[in-house]
Order: sequence, then structure tokens, then C-alpha cells
Amino acid sequence: MKKRKRIVLIAHDNRKEQLLEWARWNKKLLGDHELFGTGTTGGIISRELGLDVHRFKSGPLGGDQQVGSKISDGDIDVMIFFWDPMSAQPHDVDVKALLRLAVVYNIPVACNRSSADFIISSPLLQEEYDRKIDDFAAVLIEP
Ligand code: PGA
Repeated sequence: MKKRKRIVLIAHDNRKEQLLEWARWNKKLLGDHELFGTGTTGGIISRELGLDVHRFKSGPLGGDQQVGSKISDGDIDVMIFFWDPMSAQPHDVDVKALLRLAVVYNIPVACNRSSADFIISSPLLQEEYDRKIDDFAAVLIEP
């Protein structure tokens, strides 16, 4: 059965151009899904491509943490996050936390264009997918 996925799009400033180009190339596929984005990235995608994007705050103003919260609530299926490997960000700690939560909740993540190409062309994107989440309770110390 065809299933819309909830895809979040995020790019640091030096990578926004590349994410926009990728999203333009994949506009039709992306349009089949529910899109989310951090403030500026989401604004650019929706303005330039005419796609509906639910926007969070800008990354440095808490947007990454809002996305992390959505992931932990089980409300995001895929994250496309073109982070900048060449510049330190004022919100580096938020970026690290977000990437960590994506691993905890077993979300497919693309941090560069080729990974994003593999994800967007996966047949799993169109299907029901039973995402397994590890039971981390065992590593937590009981009171
Ligand atoms: P922005 O945030 O889309 O608001 O620029 C991205 C980020 O820095 O995480």
C-alpha cells in the first residue's frame, strides 16, 4: 500500500543551494510526501518550489531541537540534513543532539546528496515500513 512519509529537510547555510537543487530535481517525488523543514530551509523550499512545508523555527533558534522532539514522538520518518562539514555552527550541540536522536529512533538520514538520492529512490519510501526501535531501557539505570 502506498504510504506518505513525513520527511524533514534541513541544510546549513553553505549547503542550502545544494539541497534546493536536489529538491528541485526530486520535486515530484517529494510532493507525494508530507514535508517539514527548519525555518529558513523550509521557507526556501516552499518559496522556490511551491511545495507545502511545515516549518519549525530556524535551526540556531531551536528548530533542530523541535525536529528532535518530533523524531522522539515518532512523527518523522526520514531526515535529509545537509550539514556543513567545513564550518562550526553556533548551534553545534543541537546538531549533534539531532543526529543522535535520529540514530536512537532509527530514522533514515541523508547528510549528503548521494545518500539523499539513495533514500528518495528507495521503494521503501512508498511502502508501509515497520521501523524497529532498539529497547534502550536495558542500558538505563533503574532507580
Ligand atoms: P535553517 O536551520 O533552515 O533555519 O537555516 C538549519 C540549521 O541550521 O539547522
